[in-house]
Amino acid sequence: MYADVIVEYGVKSLDRTFTYLIPEKFKNKLKIGMKVVVPFGKVTINGFVINIKDTTENTDLKEIISITNEEFSLNKELLELGKYLKESTLCTLITAYNTMFPSSMKIKTIKNNYNLYDTYLRIKDINKAENYLNYNTKAFRRKEVITRLLDREIILKNEYNLEIINPLIKEGIIDIYKKTKYRINKGLILENKPKLTLDQEKAINEVNLNSNDIYLIHGVTGSGKTEVYMSLIEKVLKLNKTAIMLVPEISLTTQIVNRFYGRFGSEVAIFHSALSDGERHDEYKKILAGEVKVVVGTRSAIFVPLENIGVIIIDEEHSTNYKQENNPRYHAIDIAKKRCEYHNCPLVLGSATPSLESFARAIKNVYKLVTLDKRIGKAVMPKISLIDMAEEYKKRNMIISDALDNAIRDRLIKHEQVMLFLNRRGFTTIVTCKNCGYTYKCSNCEITLTYHKTSNNLRCHYCGYTKLNNEICPSCAEKALSYYGLGTEKLETEIKERYKEARIIRMDADTTTKKGSHEKIISMIENEEVDIILGTQMISKGLDFPKVTLVGVINADESLNIPDFRSGEYTFSLLSQVSGRAGRSEIPGEVIIQTFNPDDKTLNFVKNNDYPDLYNYEMQIRKVLKYPPYFYLTSIKIVSKDYNEASKEATNTVNYLKRVLNDKAIILGPTTAAMFKIKNYYRFQIVLKYKDFNHIKDALKYLDEVYGNHKKVSIEIDINPIRI
Ligand code: ADP
Ligand code: ZN
Repeated sequence: MYADVIVEYGVKSLDRTFTYLIPEKFKNKLKIGMKVVVPFGKVTINGFVINIKDTTENTDLKEIISITNEEFSLNKELLELGKYLKESTLCTLITAYNTMFPSSMKIKTIKNNYNLYDTYLRIKDINKAENYLNYNTKAFRRKEVITRLLDREIILKNEYNLEIINPLIKEGIIDIYKKTKYRINKGLILENKPKLTLDQEKAINEVNLNSNDIYLIHGVTGSGKTEVYMSLIEKVLKLNKTAIMLVPEISLTTQIVNRFYGRFGSEVAIFHSALSDGERHDEYKKILAGEVKVVVGTRSAIFVPLENIGVIIIDEEHSTNYKQENNPRYHAIDIAKKRCEYHNCPLVLGSATPSLESFARAIKNVYKLVTLDKRIGKAVMPKISLIDMAEEYKKRNMIISDALDNAIRDRLIKHEQVMLFLNRRGFTTIVTCKNCGYTYKCSNCEITLTYHKTSNNLRCHYCGYTKLNNEICPSCAEKALSYYGLGTEKLETEIKERYKEARIIRMDADTTTKKGSHEKIISMIENEEVDIILGTQMISKGLDFPKVTLVGVINADESLNIPDFRSGEYTFSLLSQVSGRAGRSEIPGEVIIQTFNPDDKTLNFVKNNDYPDLYNYEMQIRKVLKYPPYFYLTSIKIVSKDYNEASKEATNTVNYLKRVLNDKAIILGPTTAAMFKIKNYYRFQIVLKYKDFNHIKDALKYLDEVYGNHKKVSIEIDINPIRI
């Protein structure tokens, strides 16, 4: 017997199969979709078995050396899905398959010692056991063990001392057995199931579980979407099928997963990047063993090997986190569509602020639109006001306006909670010298360094470059540095000084590096151990805290000023999501947005909670400028350590594209990319706008191959990029 194996070798042109002989000892074990180690030229490398066959024309074949892990293999659906991933993102097949495996299974780091076991006791010989009970007058503890086992109790070996147990084992009365132990092991934490509202009932009934339809649930924040998702999943489980539910961020999984454990208990598996390798291994095993029916997780959970899927749900479908920004550059929604097609089941997308693309599809009936336009019960949408910071500056209010200050003090007195949102971490964002005008920039990235006070260093948020701050200008050696810009760290200091009696917590990438820190912060908020929560976009989405009645946006202009055609859409969704954290229960909420552009259109759409107006306004612009959803985009980056080489090849690329594409696409560039220099690589960008991907696919494949084998220049092709 022979196996066709694709091998893991860095070079694209090797993205094809090689045939190997299957040695006798593996004949009954080896399955399609398994990882193996094979000889390749003079080295041994890793590969995936994608076919097993009885005959081959090749002679002189080498043997497979070993099977990497017999427990894990990709099923037929996922093997097919890998081909789609390759075609739609132009990655190699091996990259596609590696992406689908949990990272603990990454070929290079493979370890086989992830399995944990618990050891239990059981009766070996029932006659001996009964005799022991009848004829022994002492040995009470030993008799207790036997009695409990005869009563079918489950007993861990380490409940009893070895002196008690060993004689019983020796006499052949009991023995031990091992059972896999899972690191995450939640039973049912029974949660009361609320009675669905009429709107929720209606939404649920609109989803046809026997179809392959795509639904867009457009429901305002706090309209009970999560409850709708759970009810849909309940229905799917009754049909004996399974479900995947994606959430955009780890910080969200905690709350959602707890609600899911409450409803579905141990039938739930969880999947995200903050799990340890061991935990991920366990969760994967549960899925493969068919022990779980529901998987909740972030982007990569879309690849879990669930069988018989009955629905896939993507919450906060507009989130850019669903797009992977490095190779393979896939979008979870595209993968979900493919999987739903395979399983002939519906895909449910949900959001309070759908992406323009999704909403446009709903308007055109490609997606079925389901609307939830009211909050649950007595909860109402929060009152939103815009504060003109130019006026506040005149009063020397640089960070907190009078209106926000009054509102915070009011909530502190009432023992309600406040959320302050600032989408910049660190202390200050620009450090310059007053004497000579020098500005600190990352030498690898040409990006200003952010000052972090706690660790007293200057950091690049792109490459991680760190420099100790010795307060002396490296250019003129004067002690004349000044610090501008506001990050969450400085905001925290400021707030602590201002509201001395308040309990304050900060949630951003710097305070959540430790494992379990997300959960800890969230439970502190839930238990009302904090009064003011400040943070970055990490606190913006999906979180549900009934006591939060005030949300303050410190600087709304941060995202307005991003030079991207989607900045209006992103600003709207970000600020609407943050606003949506306020007043989700009985006490009405208030939102205060600080800005230097109080007349800005987008901010006023947010203020009026007006998604339709935002949609119409943005669509007009997109149409005129030929952007999505009217045209598709692909961004091509030509990257090199050598500036001239990158520039030259970028021009060559444009010339090539002009020649072969003619009128099939609008070709823009080359220009320098928005992040022009990152980690010492110069990046030039070309943007294609087109109506039909099939018309440009071959040209992209050609470029990918040419630069895939180029010595000095590499290429990054991003099909449907989320930002350009
Ligand atoms: P969304 O996901 O749309 O933002 P959630 O599903 O988080 O909204 O619901 C908001 C709040 O309302 C939650 O605290 C949730 O437990 C509660 N809730 C949802 N549905 C109901 C219902 N039918 N009856 C009572 N409370 C509900
Ligand atoms: Zn850098």
